Amino acid sequence: MTVVAGGAGVHELAGFRGELVTPPDAAYEEARGVWNAMVDKRPALIARCTGAADVIAAVDYARENGMPIAVRGGAHNVAGLSTCDGGVVVDLGPMKGIRVDPATRTVHAQPGLRWAEFDHETQAFGLATTGGTNGDTGISGLTVGGGFGWLSGKYGMAVDNLLSADVVIADGSLLKASSHENPDLFWGIRGGSGNFGVVTSFEYRLHPVGPMITGGAVFHPIARVREVIGFYREFIASAPDEVTAYAALLTGPGGPMAAIAAAHCGTPRDAEQALRPLKEFGPPVQDLIGPIPYVVQQALLDEAMPPRLHNYWKSDFLTGLTDDVIALAADFYARVPSPRSVALFVPINGAAARVPVDATAFPHRGGVMIGIYSLWDDPARTDANVAWARDFWQAVQPFASGGVYVNELAADEGDDRVRIAFGPNYERLAKVKAKYDPSNLFRLNANVRPPTQS
Ligand SMILES: Cc1cc2nc3c(=O)[nH]c(=O)nc-3n(C[C@H](O)[C@H](O)[C@H](O)COP(=O)(O)OP(=O)(O)OC[C@H]3O[C@@H](n4cnc5c(N)ncnc54)[C@H](O)[C@@H]3O)c2cc1C
Repeated sequence: MTVVAGGAGVHELAGFRGELVTPPDAAYEEARGVWNAMVDKRPALIARCTGAADVIAAVDYARENGMPIAVRGGAHNVAGLSTCDGGVVVDLGPMKGIRVDPATRTVHAQPGLRWAEFDHETQAFGLATTGGTNGDTGISGLTVGGGFGWLSGKYGMAVDNLLSADVVIADGSLLKASSHENPDLFWGIRGGSGNFGVVTSFEYRLHPVGPMITGGAVFHPIARVREVIGFYREFIASAPDEVTAYAALLTGPGGPMAAIAAAHCGTPRDAEQALRPLKEFGPPVQDLIGPIPYVVQQALLDEAMPPRLHNYWKSDFLTGLTDDVIALAADFYARVPSPRSVALFVPINGAAARVPVDATAFPHRGGVMIGIYSLWDDPARTDANVAWARDFWQAVQPFASGGVYVNELAADEGDDRVRIAFGPNYERLAKVKAKYDPSNLFRLNANVRPPTQS
């Protein structure tokens, strides 16, 4: 039995093997921090789990003491869902076990892994699966929300590659979820976020990728943003599945620019042909598309989005990448208060778009998302940067399709936005919730209410 005297009381977690961090501890200040510096919460206890047994102990403890639970994988959630005031953080960070089976092209991975760590292991065998575009993002929060990345066009979302998972549910039992064991739970965790329990192990399908692929980005003057994104719209409409490409308005060392970042995961010859239009259009003022290690492509955005900046993000799926939307984005980006901020267009296309809407809990198959990512250094500039993102997002509303990616909900968004994040799958998710978490123990997330509580 581990006994910890903390500022919030005495915590006794039977059989807990990992570290327990409470407010008086020297480690507490750092341990309570998450990726977004805007989030400033003070949990009563941070339970740094070493395995499923610790997760069970932490969940049992929180439930028996009536304390809220926040689940933390990589701590990247911009809304700060991986921490809380006065509750228990089930911190999965130390759980970084991973085992690749090259023969079956599968991997078992624990939830504390970041994508850079995951890729490091799978790339040793020339294998990969769809993961996030920032190497520091946790595999677990990204996966349970859906997960788009450079391989989405060819291999679908992260959830489309999930074969099974181990889940600690609200009563503290550990269940296997797969297409043949607890299939309703398996459906729910593939996009339903952290509503049903804590995933302690993920099993993914892997694909031959790399070690070299073709990727990078092209950059154009911001004055040409309308033509560039108009071109991008046509380009992605006819690109093969091997291509995943995002368009961005961002600020480089020389000032604002329009950029298209792309990856092609097929052969160099196919890539040369498929990406040639990107290199020819304009032509770009800077063309950084060429052969690139897959792991470098996966880290392409790391520098632009480092941890501990101030962040306020708003997102929506669009009815289309129309000229009006492009003009609006150009107009707002011309007034961006921070050079770190980015407006990003993310299509869910190719294989990711062909999966039926009800096949997994992640419903946004097809369509283009706009991500309005406000990032800034100086807390004194918070109001201006939050207002920019909010106003931009408000102006986008006439072009929004009524869908939002659950992993990009802002902290100040309510139940109505959670409902549209799950779209037509909400009612089914509520039934799964009622079965596996009827008392809504796991509620610090994009919360699906069990029917009795809605
Ligand atoms: C810089 C940056 C880049 C990003 N790029 C992408 C991208 O390319 N593609 C994309 O799809 N998304 C992207 N995102 C969004 C990302 O998917 C979310 O921020 C996601 O929540 C991050 O996962 P995490 O484990 O780091 O988060 P955490 O903050 O640790 O967790 C977020 C929430 O996920 C749930 N959760 C986490 N772990 C578990 C678990 N083991 N079991 C059950 N529930 C769990 C919990 O509800 C938790 O509150 C990006 C975010 C950032 C900040």
